Amino acid sequence: MSEEGKSIHEFDFKLICEYFSSIERQGPGSPEVTAKALSFIDTLKKELRIADIGCGTGGQTMVLANLTSGHITGIDLFDDFIDIFRDNFRKRDLQDRVEGVVGSMDNLVFQKEELDMIWSEGAIYNIGFERGINEWRKFLKTGGFIAVSEASWFTEKRPVEIDRFWKDAYPEIDIISNKVGQMQKAGYIPIATFVLPENCWTEHFYAPQASAQDKFLKKYAGNQTAEDFVRNQRREAELYNKYKEYYGYVFYIGKKI
Ligand code: SAH
Repeated sequence: MSEEGKSIHEFDFKLICEYFSSIERQGPGSPEVTAKALSFIDTLKKELRIADIGCGTGGQTMVLANLTSGHITGIDLFDDFIDIFRDNFRKRDLQDRVEGVVGSMDNLVFQKEELDMIWSEGAIYNIGFERGINEWRKFLKTGGFIAVSEASWFTEKRPVEIDRFWKDAYPEIDIISNKVGQMQKAGYIPIATFVLPENCWTEHFYAPQASAQDKFLKKYAGNQTAEDFVRNQRREAELYNKYKEYYGYVFYIGKKI
C-alpha cells in the first residue's frame, strides 16, 4: 500500500475510533447482560485469571471487575480504546487488577492453560466465531469458561434485504443451534445460551450513538468519510428496527472439557 493510501486508511481508522470513544459501549450489551452471563459461571469465588478480548474502552470489563476477584487483562487492537480503558480503571484505583494491552485476538500471548475465563462481547466476529473459540481454547485451563456474544439468526428463513446485509457484513452469522454445535465440537460443554434483550441495542448502543452523531457531524462537516460512516451507522440502526425479530446478539457460554 502506498504511503498516501496508508495515511488515508489511518485517518479513517482514527475517525471511527473517535466516534466510538465517545460512547460507553462499542457493541450491543449492557451491565445486566454481563452480570447475567457471569451468573452461569460456578467458580467465581476463586481468584480468577480472566482475559477480555476485544474489550474496547472497557464497558463490560468494569462489570467483570466489580463482580469477580483476581486479575483481568483487556486486549484490543486500537490503542485509543486501550488509553481510555486504562484511564477508566486508574480513576477507580483498579489498575493493579485490571490491565489494558494493545494486541490482536489472532495473536494472543497468553501461556497454555493460563486462563480461568475468556470473555469477549461483540468482538469475536473479527476473526470469526468458530476460529476464535477453537484457537483460544488452548489458553484455558480444563474446566475454565468461555463467554462470548455474537450476532445470530433467530429464524431459519428471513427477508432478503436483511439476509444480504448480514451475509455481506459477517458471512458467519448463523442460527443459534449451529453456533452451539460449533462450541460442542470445539471441546466445550455448552453451559448456557441466551438472547440479549432489545435494550442492549436501543438504549445502550444506538441511542448513545444518535446523540454522538450530531456532534461528530458538526465537528467534521464536509468530511466525506465522517458523513458516510454516520450514514452507515444510521442505516444499521434502521435495519435493526425493521428486522429485529430475525436476528440479534446471543451470549454463548461454554466450559472447557
Ligand atoms: N467488547 C466491547 C467492544 C466491542 S466492539 C463492547 O462490547 O463494548 C469490537 C472491538 O473489537 C473493538 O473495540 C475493536 O477495536 C476490537 N477489535 C477489532 N479487531 C480486533 C483484533 N483483531 N484484535 C483485538 N481486538 C479487535
